[in-house]
Amino acid sequence: MKKVNLIIPCYNEEEALPLFAGELNKVMEQLNTADDHSASRQSGGTEISGIKDDRDVSGQAYEFEILLINDGSTDATLQVMQDICTKDSRYKYLSFSRNFGKEAAMYAGFCNSDGDYVAVMDADMQDPPSLLPRMLHCLETEDYDSVATRRVTRLGEPPIRSFFARAFYKLINKISDANVVDGARDFRLMKRNMVDAIVSMCESNRFSKGIFGWIGFKTKWIEFENVNRIAGETKWNFWGLLKYAIDGIINFSETPMSIASGLGVTCTAISFIMILFIIIRKLAFGDAVAGWPSLVCIILFVAGLQFLCIGIMGKYLSKTYMEVKKRPHYIISETNKENVEKIN
Ligand code: UDP
Ligand code: MG
Repeated sequence: MKKVNLIIPCYNEEEALPLFAGELNKVMEQLNTADDHSASRQSGGTEISGIKDDRDVSGQAYEFEILLINDGSTDATLQVMQDICTKDSRYKYLSFSRNFGKEAAMYAGFCNSDGDYVAVMDADMQDPPSLLPRMLHCLETEDYDSVATRRVTRLGEPPIRSFFARAFYKLINKISDANVVDGARDFRLMKRNMVDAIVSMCESNRFSKGIFGWIGFKTKWIEFENVNRIAGETKWNFWGLLKYAIDGIINFSETPMSIASGLGVTCTAISFIMILFIIIRKLAFGDAVAGWPSLVCIILFVAGLQFLCIGIMGKYLSKTYMEVKKRPHYIISETNKENVEKIN
């Protein structure tokens, strides 16, 4: 019997979590009770045959372990988690000492999972649990290491956010080797070998969308229509997303630094040509002092470029500083799971 770990990062999800767990239970039931995986067959919309069935004596096809990660929620998320865990032993919770961010929550899940298959899912149902049977079916029957999902629509999202998101995906794919797919969600089901590769990437500045692309492996993409959050509110605002995008670029690309050096070389070359021009003009025409306004403009322009370049270098330096400190990714203050490394 194969073990499936589901990692659910939760930050202030007291309303959404019970609804999500209810929906997930139905899907797990469907997967485990349906005759010879008919659930998997139906869920893709097509009838697929030839699925391997290795149920144990209890008749279960999969052993599920759901890791609920409480990322320092300030509402009653932890109590809701504990309640779910007491009622259903398949659920385990890991509670952080403060809010470390979704990236840290995902990493904690990966580090503490030992299943043959591992998936990350949001608690707000924007990653539909109903896709799970189809994803499992793909990994069981086809030669893939992971099944990833991408939204093909962004309905319900502010247009300005969609515009910048699209621009970001175009840019990061041009200037890095991270291979980030437009509309890709963190919701993906992976085989053990891929999860081990992710755990081995222990950088402090984590950008999972880039990490998934960078490690490679064969990935099948499943497309779905955007689903709105079932309850609660998104944790992202425009500036948060902008920072996330800049971090993603800095983490996976050295192009901004090359642009900074390029600008330096270009400015030096232009100023050299201008100096030659001024000397020749002075020798030929004995020019009087003129052109102060243009000089001020040039000085301001070059100073601006210098600040920009220093800023870019500073960004890389600060990332290096954080990496060198080797601070833990997360600190777990409470859990009901055994053998958990509490500081990692
Ligand atoms: N999340 C988290 N820590 C955070 C922010 C978010 O664990 O600091 C979780 C959140 O509870 C949800 C998932 O990450 O399960 C995605 O968050 P959200 O729905 O706010 O993002 P969006 O879907 O709007 O991109
Ligand atoms: Mg969401």
